[in-house]
Amino acid sequence: MSLEFKFSCPLPHGIHARPASQISNLASRFLSGCTLVNLRNGLTANLKSVLSVIAADVRLNDECSVHVSGADETIACSVLQRFAAHELPGVDAPLQSAMRGLNPKDTFPENIPRSLRSAGGDICQGTPISRGIAEGDVVMFEGFVAPAEISNEVSAGPVLEEQRVGRALTAARERIHNMLARRTSVAEIGVLQAHLAILGDISLIDRVMEQIGRGCSAGQAIVEASQFFGETLRKSESHYLRERALDIQEICFKLLEEIYSVRQQSSVQLDRPSIVTGDNLPPQQLLALDRTWLKGLVLESAGTTSHTVILARSLGLPALVGVKELTHVMKAGERVLVDANRGFLVRNCTPAVEKFYKVQRETSRRRDARLASYGSKPAFTTDGHAIEVAANIASADELSTVFGNGADGIGLFRTEMLFLDRETAPSEQEQFEMYAQVARAAGDKPVIIRTLDIGGDKQVRCLDLPAEDNPFLGYRGVRVYPKHQSLIRDQLRAIVRASAYGRVQMMVPMISSIEEVRWIKKELLRVKEELLREHVAFNPALPLGAMLEVPSVAFILDQLSSELDFFSIGTNDLNQYFLAVDRGNPNVSPLADVTRPSFLRLLKHIVDEVHGWGKWIGLCGEMAGDPRYLPLLVGLGLDELSVAAPSIPLIKERISRLSAVECRKLLARALECHEVSDVAALLDSFS
Ligand code: PEP
Ligand code: MG
Repeated sequence: MSLEFKFSCPLPHGIHARPASQISNLASRFLSGCTLVNLRNGLTANLKSVLSVIAADVRLNDECSVHVSGADETIACSVLQRFAAHELPGVDAPLQSAMRGLNPKDTFPENIPRSLRSAGGDICQGTPISRGIAEGDVVMFEGFVAPAEISNEVSAGPVLEEQRVGRALTAARERIHNMLARRTSVAEIGVLQAHLAILGDISLIDRVMEQIGRGCSAGQAIVEASQFFGETLRKSESHYLRERALDIQEICFKLLEEIYSVRQQSSVQLDRPSIVTGDNLPPQQLLALDRTWLKGLVLESAGTTSHTVILARSLGLPALVGVKELTHVMKAGERVLVDANRGFLVRNCTPAVEKFYKVQRETSRRRDARLASYGSKPAFTTDGHAIEVAANIASADELSTVFGNGADGIGLFRTEMLFLDRETAPSEQEQFEMYAQVARAAGDKPVIIRTLDIGGDKQVRCLDLPAEDNPFLGYRGVRVYPKHQSLIRDQLRAIVRASAYGRVQMMVPMISSIEEVRWIKKELLRVKEELLREHVAFNPALPLGAMLEVPSVAFILDQLSSELDFFSIGTNDLNQYFLAVDRGNPNVSPLADVTRPSFLRLLKHIVDEVHGWGKWIGLCGEMAGDPRYLPLLVGLGLDELSVAAPSIPLIKERISRLSAVECRKLLARALECHEVSDVAALLDSFS
């Protein structure tokens, strides 16, 4: 028997590498064969192969049918159908939000300020894809150069050549995993994951092996496969798919690098402020560039949706694409100025151009400095109410930004990021070193380390959790601990040991009952006794807290307060569970408004209860970092707000302009509102 469902592609750019890699990851979890048929063009794809899915050229509104057949077809079909209906529409969301704020009108020539038009210099128009102004010397990226020996190489026989490919695949995968371990931005992780998926793609491997079977060497087979898939994608009518050819090419060249022990990165070395230019730049090349000297990016044919572009945005790198004839016009070493706020670059800058941009830079420097001065001191409202502003982090890499921006502590260390994309979990020692590093860097400031929160939208390979129909209501957070006791014990030991090096606090996610708290306390006690016996130093009074993100806990705060030391509200999950709105589903996201009066009432109830029991309470969901909601949060009387590091100075500055008394009155009125729009109107009039 075979099961079937149909869906219509909801993605404006069609099913390109990132959605395809998610689909193939999902399909690969099942034994059943999963096939997609694009009903518009009749192309068929194996859902377990990213390349095969990409090559089906599925575009916006294309009708597709999916056929699932095999031992676990019922669950496989329902999981895939659910993905297509609920998660696929949101797959490109970060991309679109990254585009927000760029006004297409800014790119019009008439938007070149009058004073600049008469200032001389040669202006080349482009499309700005990541804001900012940058100046530096042009460094050209010339493209990939295949090792010379490939063309004359003679095959050493299929067995040996296949082994060379196997070794290259393992090494390339390991390199990407190492890069992943150091990355924290969603965009960087997404791109590297897509590359991993391409690397493991069955169609790519089949093609390479097929060529080896025909007498090619490993290198020749990889070059052929790169050309074959590159051309298939370049022929696509979708510009988005055409841009994916670069990803395939880059992956294939990574394999060649491993086989011939050469590194493409050596082709672009930066040693002074540089604007990297070229026809296009592969994403991993961009990640390999020295950020100290990389000031901007100008590309001729990269589209606005390529992975390189997504990364440039996530790195905050001023970037332009679509600059015509760039590679013919520009010379390596010439000085250029990139204005990615307005959408052009200036060559042969005159003193008048330099003066114009000096003023521009001075204005933005003053704005940043004004905000930075707030970052460096504690935040007080105008009537003297103190609120800690801490940082949410996912790895120790962020520490310099965190404390450079004036964080009063770490309000949420999402440790699950250390477990992503690895075959085995990090050891106790590896975790301890990371946690201790964060604790030391924080000095006398508190560091709240959250124990593993996997499941839901955060799957880790090393745990191999089962596929579920409702992952957010399923096996996630603290619920997985009892079955993975040794993994959790390693983490508890690492956190407790790190408590000897700073003000470490431990927080548990997804607590919904007192039993879960008691379970973790028992484990913690056991770990402490063990460490005591081993004469390992730790803080015996290590504070233990819980995330408040499951609504049931709002009604046992008396009981929880007698078991725990502190709390932090996770509004991302609390809101989705309270309002029954899937946080990843764009169809229902308008319902997930954190200013809904019922939700504000819940928050007020929680904060008052916790304070009534004499405990400390912070808020670490995304709501905390949005200045629009700040008057309501100040009105709630929270002890701390934990936000992304770049938002800290702004949040502190806004707090310093608010009166706690006025905010409390505003909140009282908001709690009486009937509709979200009434709260919005109140907030507007307040500001
Ligand atoms: C939350 O749920 O608000 C939260 C901070 O945790 P996460 O986003 O990691 O689930
Ligand atoms: Mg959460």
